[in-house]
Formats: sequence, C-alpha cells, structure tokens
Amino acid sequence: MRNSRGENRKNQQDFDVVVIGGGPAGTTAATLLADSGWSVCLLEKGRHPRFHIGESLLPMNLPIFERLGVLDEVRKIGIKKLAAEFNSTVTPLAQDTFYFSRAINPDHPCAFQVRRSEFDELLFTNCQIHGVSAIQNIEVVDVDLESSEHKIVRALSKDKQQSVFSCKFVIDASGRETFLANKLKSKQKNARHQMAAIFGHYRNVQRRKGVDKGNISIYWFGQGWIWMIPLRDGVMSIGAVCWPGYLKTRSISLEEFLSNTLRQLPEVVKRIEEAELIGKIQATGNYSYASSTMIGNGYLLVGDAYAFVDPVFSSGVFLAMQSAVDAAELIDKLLQGTSDSKKLIQAYQRKIKRGIAAISWFIYRFNTPALHYLLMSSDDSKQNKWQMKMKSSVISILSGDVYGNPKVTVPLLMFKTLYYLLSLKNYAETIRFMRFKAKP
Ligand SMILES: Cc1cc2nc3c(=O)[nH]c(=O)nc-3n(C[C@H](O)[C@H](O)[C@H](O)COP(=O)(O)OP(=O)(O)OC[C@H]3O[C@@H](n4cnc5c(N)ncnc54)[C@H](O)[C@@H]3O)c2cc1C
Repeated sequence: MRNSRGENRKNQQDFDVVVIGGGPAGTTAATLLADSGWSVCLLEKGRHPRFHIGESLLPMNLPIFERLGVLDEVRKIGIKKLAAEFNSTVTPLAQDTFYFSRAINPDHPCAFQVRRSEFDELLFTNCQIHGVSAIQNIEVVDVDLESSEHKIVRALSKDKQQSVFSCKFVIDASGRETFLANKLKSKQKNARHQMAAIFGHYRNVQRRKGVDKGNISIYWFGQGWIWMIPLRDGVMSIGAVCWPGYLKTRSISLEEFLSNTLRQLPEVVKRIEEAELIGKIQATGNYSYASSTMIGNGYLLVGDAYAFVDPVFSSGVFLAMQSAVDAAELIDKLLQGTSDSKKLIQAYQRKIKRGIAAISWFIYRFNTPALHYLLMSSDDSKQNKWQMKMKSSVISILSGDVYGNPKVTVPLLMFKTLYYLLSLKNYAETIRFMRFKAKP
C-alpha cells in the first residue's frame, strides 16, 4: 500500500496523534491524549536534559502538575516561589512584594522556580510513562496537511535517517521555532511589542532571606526590566529584557554588555558584587509574535508555537501548558467525532486568546509611568478596601487566573480605569513613553 505521496506505507508508523516538540506544551498535550486512550507519538529534535529559558512558574501551573501526576517531582526539583517582587527607582515605594496568597482565589499560594533542563526532562519521561511513543533527537522537517483523512509527518534523525508517520491529528508544539506557522506563513510580528532579551546563570548572587528566598525579583529601568530568579544549588538566573534599539548599541561582548546593563541599577549592583558567571550569556531577539491560524483541519498550534508575548509575568510555561490541556480536551472530542466541533473550536480559540490578552494588557503598559505608580504607590497598611481588592485582582493575573474569573473582573476593571485616568492626567509623560516605544 502507498500513501498520498506514493511512499510505501510499510515504512510508515500510524498514530492517532503526532506531536511536534517535547517541551511543556507538547508533553502535556501528549500525556493527556494518551490518558484518553489515543495512540500518540511525540517527536523532539533535541535531547533531554537540555538548557531552555523560562524558569519561573506560576501558581496556576500547580493544578496542571497534579493532573499530570508530577506535582511531587516538580516540588523536589523546584524552589518554592511565594511572590513576585517589583523594584523601581521612580515610584513612591521602591519595592513591593506581590504575594500569591493575596490573589482573589487563594487556593494556590505558591509556585516554583525550576531549571528547565530538569523540568522538561521530567515532563518528557512522564509522557512516556503515560504511554506516549516519545522519541528524541528527531526533527520534524515536513508535514503534509493536505489529505483530510491522514496527515503525513516526515522527520529526520541526527544521522539523517528519514521516518514517516501518519496520523489523524498533528499538534505543533515546536515553541519559538513555530514550525507550522512558518509553513502556513501565518506568523505575524507583534506590532505593539518588540523587545529582546539577554541572560545567563550566575553563582554568588545575594539571595532574599526567609520566606522570600524563592521569589522572583523584577527591576524596572529606563531600557526595560531585569529579572533575578533563584534556582537550586545557589544559582541565580539573571536576564535583561530591553528595547531592541538599546541592544543594537552593543559593541562589546554579551557578557560585558549584560554586566554593564545590570550596573545601571544600584540595588542590583549590591546583589551581584561577587557574582560569577556559569556558562555562556545568551540573547534572544525577534521576540513577540502570534500566528493568524491557531487551528485547522486536523492540526493545531499550541504554546509558543502559536504565540509569545513577553516573559515579564512568568506566564509562558503556564499559558503553554494550559493551552495544551484545553487542546487535548478539544482534540479528544474531535477524534471521537463530536457533532459540536464548530462550537468547541470557537470556544477553545476564544479562551486561548482571552488568556493571552489578559497578560498582554499589563505587558504593553509595563514600563509606563502610570502603571509603575499604580502598582508601587503605597504599602498595604495604607491602602483602603478597594485599593486592596484592586491589588488582589492584579495578583490574580500574576498567578495565572487569566480566563475571565468573574470575581477578578470588576476590581480589575477599576484598576484599568484608574490607569487610563492617571495616564490622561500625566499625558505629557504618557506621550513621551509612547514615542520612545515607537522609536527605540
Ligand atoms: C528570555 C525569555 C525568558 C522567559 N522566561 C520565562 C519565565 O520565567 N517563565 C515562564 O513561564 N516562561 C518564560 N519564558 C517563556 C517560555 O520559555 C516559553 O513560553 C515556554 O517554554 C513555551 O513552552 P512550549 O512547550 O510551547 O515551547 P518550548 O519549551 O520551546 O518547547 C518546544 C520544543 O520543540 C522542539 N522542537 C522545535 N522544532 C522542532 C521540530 N521541527 N521537530 C521536533 N522538535 C522540535 C524544541 O527542541 C523544544 O524542545 C521566557 C521566554 C524568553 C524568551
């Protein structure tokens, strides 16, 4: 027997679902579909454990870990993160800590900081335990989406041996490589947000003490913002997310450039006085994008393969895993031949876009004077009931409660209204920021 391209079907392996990419999105979707009884093959071009950026997770990741059966293992490899700490040199409050226990839904008061090499390997092994045929060191090079019955996926091993897979559904979870969006020419640069990042791992960086020792620290500065994420074994992940124009001024090594950038902030300098770089500094450009297609006949794009905005709220892994959970539920119904497919697909797309939009609202305004002021104007003891509620709604978003929880909606709307009023009041500053953003 031959497939639509005339290739001998004897060499072809048949599955219900083929997943491209073995990061958090791919392994989550694969695990849950295998749990539902479908035959699933996952193809990963790298080999775990491998470095990946994206180390700070959100509280709303925890229910997903429970569902995948990995919560205890994540706890073992992670550092407990109770809050996100923000620092600014231009607001009345120089530092404020946003504890997740203050979210409107306080059921998940903590998250974890993880080394992605360990975390992704754990998720990969777990999907194999759940029955997924997960293969590493194999790169998907072509997907034939034309046949309405069976999709053909071609992949190459490291030694250039070709394998052919046939399936009813393809999930693209290839991350920032955006495999299907490139093929479909559906990838679009985000016109509202273009940043670039430069980052590395260090030892001997001053850590916070007591209950705050696992918190992420975020520092605002003129060229963007800086993160410090404490990892196990005394390592600190440090990165700067900057306007691309600033990074273009670089004429020295990445290491010196990051060091000079960090030295612009006295509070950061205090913490890195004895810092020692481990490994290499890396940089990522071409930052924010989305695909104009999320789902088509027999295929779906999930996680970073569909869209990426900015890591400031540590939302990437959560959005990727939650969209994979929802995608697995949708694909399960589609494969069963539901008569409601149109409605389900629309609801899925609405939910994914809603989550990204909730985070994006803050990301697009992250460096505006009005947002700095609103987030960092007074400490909790001086806030009235409504100010506290608004802060809780912001913390809910920071926790990953981004899909329209009605209890979050009203105080969040008040927060946004105040933001617009404050921006109008300080319109000169707001316009200066918007011009700066447009022409970095
Ligand atoms: C600078 C920076 C900092 C970040 N910080 C955070 C953070 O603190 N917290 C957070 O939650 N998120 C963060 N993120 C975002 C986070 O890294 C991603 O959102 C997350 O990894 C997305 O998961 P994913 O499974 O969709 O993709 P990935 O994790 O990228 O996984 C995709 C996998 O697909 C594989 N692959 C690609 N192409 C192919 C192919 N053709 N065939 C087979 N396999 C393929 C890749 O090897 C990879 O293993 C950050 C991002 C950046 C750029």
